[in-house]
Amino acid sequence: CGIFAYLNHLVPATRKEIIDILINGLKRLEYKGYDSTGLALEESDGNKDGSIKIVKQVGKVSDLAHQVKANLDLDKSFISHVGLAHTRWATHGQPSINNAHPHRSDVDNEFVIVHNGTITNYKDIKSFLIQRDFKFESETDTEVVVKLVKYLHDAHQTQKPAFSEIIELAAAQLEGAFAIVAISKHYPCELVATSRGSPLIVGVKSKSKLNADHFPVLNSKDMRGYFGGSYGRKDEDLQYHPLGPHKEIEYFFTSDPSCVIEHTNQVIYLEENDIASVHGGVLDIHRGSRSIDESTHREICTLKLELEQIM
Ligand code: GLU
Repeated sequence: CGIFAYLNHLVPATRKEIIDILINGLKRLEYKGYDSTGLALEESDGNKDGSIKIVKQVGKVSDLAHQVKANLDLDKSFISHVGLAHTRWATHGQPSINNAHPHRSDVDNEFVIVHNGTITNYKDIKSFLIQRDFKFESETDTEVVVKLVKYLHDAHQTQKPAFSEIIELAAAQLEGAFAIVAISKHYPCELVATSRGSPLIVGVKSKSKLNADHFPVLNSKDMRGYFGGSYGRKDEDLQYHPLGPHKEIEYFFTSDPSCVIEHTNQVIYLEENDIASVHGGVLDIHRGSRSIDESTHREICTLKLELEQIM
């Protein structure tokens, strides 16, 4: 139903500050209706630990906030953070803790995702995975996605694929309508998002002034558009650093612009089958393998929504 994800790169903050951002994002999604909520948090203090915490429950966002505060040490401070938050409106499986998002690939939370929409071929994917010894803990269509991601990661491990490549491979297998945001302990401080038939926008907040040059035209599948870091083909020589390679930057991935406006009015609307990823604080958007058109224009939009309109 509602997605709100947040990533900051080299912006020291306490866990409390990050959780407040995630919970406030969820509160902005409440008006759409939901039956359960949850969030996942991955933090780094530079040593690339990457372990992911998940808290979820049936009921209100305010109850989730209490549960999070009771279970996590809020005073801990980190320099980079990635968080996923979700309000669920059940389509497959009743409202329950196990069916609430985020969903995980396994008990070690190697891969964790939130999902809006429905995966119409989930039964086929589920039987494929069950035959390969995957154990399911929910009745959702969503769980097949995160387990498929782990399957593809393990199957391609020798090639050391980028996180975005694994998500692109998984998305190519999915039928239905979806917006998905994924994180992984194998790819600390990274996040990958994709959507088809379900809205997803990226908000960007930076102390440096943003301009149109930061949002390139994508001409073909092998061109990569970058924001915050490199620009052009995936080639070290063509790297372009409009903001410098490691400047403070924050990204918001959400299904609803009203969650972003209190942080930034600078947004990019993802198009069908886009694969958007953040790696080393750099946003990369490219066309996924299922896209029909190869060329598309990406530009920064200024949200007109006023804060008062959504209060
Ligand atoms: N189909 C998913 C589920 O039932 C996601 C529903 C939603 O968009 O909230 O868990």
